[in-house]
Amino acid sequence: MSWSMTASEVPETGQKPPLKVLLCSPRGFCAGVVRAIDTVELALSRYGAPVYVRHEIVHNRYVVESLKAKGAVFVEELDEIPETGAPVIFSAHGVPKSIPAQAQKRNFFALDATCPLVTKVHREAEIHHKRGREIVLIGHAGHPEVVGTIGQLPEGAITLVQSVDEVTAFAPRDPANLAYVTQTTLSVDDTADIVAALKTRFPQIHGPHKEDICYATTNRQEVVKKVAPMVEAMVVVGSPNSSNTQRLKEVAERAGCPRAALVNRAQEIDWSVFGSIASLGITAGASAPEVLVEEVIGAFAERYTVSVETVTTADENMFFPLPRVLRGNEAAE
Ligand code: SF4
Repeated sequence: MSWSMTASEVPETGQKPPLKVLLCSPRGFCAGVVRAIDTVELALSRYGAPVYVRHEIVHNRYVVESLKAKGAVFVEELDEIPETGAPVIFSAHGVPKSIPAQAQKRNFFALDATCPLVTKVHREAEIHHKRGREIVLIGHAGHPEVVGTIGQLPEGAITLVQSVDEVTAFAPRDPANLAYVTQTTLSVDDTADIVAALKTRFPQIHGPHKEDICYATTNRQEVVKKVAPMVEAMVVVGSPNSSNTQRLKEVAERAGCPRAALVNRAQEIDWSVFGSIASLGITAGASAPEVLVEEVIGAFAERYTVSVETVTTADENMFFPLPRVLRGNEAAE
């Protein structure tokens, strides 16, 4: 099969080749992302601009730019914010304990958009710590969720491991008194390997019933695993700094899809790769809006006669209430 068709070789309208699109379901926004974006939007409509947001509210450029246009001001650290009575929102990924403390010291009106499933991991870590256990966090160094989870406890209480090799190298203070928690947006399969390695080395280690990977991450990977072997190529809509989105691309490749690409927008599609295929899978990371999926399908429809079939492996009806101060008639819509 040739992958070298260029845009100029695209057949004229009326002669478009057929393309079968398998649309993954579930895909796109999860309940934590909806809650975080709604928090910013409602804060804007209730208190007016500006509303300050520490870090990208969710890892998606389109979402961030749309909120910027409505008056949200994104900063990386609180010291970038002037003295203000405006709301200061913490992103869905969670923050170290030092951040709400800083906000309180400066009398900021703080709103916490941390996903409740991330908060759950914070609480698990605190409980293990109270019980005197040394904690292993499975996750990716530098990701804001990992920084936030480590920052729930005093320095040294949590050790990050990123791979089976790092489990082998890990030297705990007391091998009989350990616990683990995980980042919520990891590869289900990689994490299972790391957890198995931990349990082999430290049979008494405490951990969650399953792992802490959230329902949305799990469900999006599951459907990609099903669709990937059935298609010649897969487009994952989302931003490269989104952990769960990156994992979807990896899952597609490992499940046997010969061409997988992560794209923010339709204009990033490399037509030298996607210009001569007969079947395509499409999914979207948990922070990618559906409008961008539609844009991608539209771009393919300009070059192909597209037929779309949805492949569903799970139904989702998760809902997280807004931060308490924003709840009310408007919030209940
Ligand atoms: S991906 Fe999971 S943990 Fe992250 S915001 Fe969505 S539901 Fe919450």
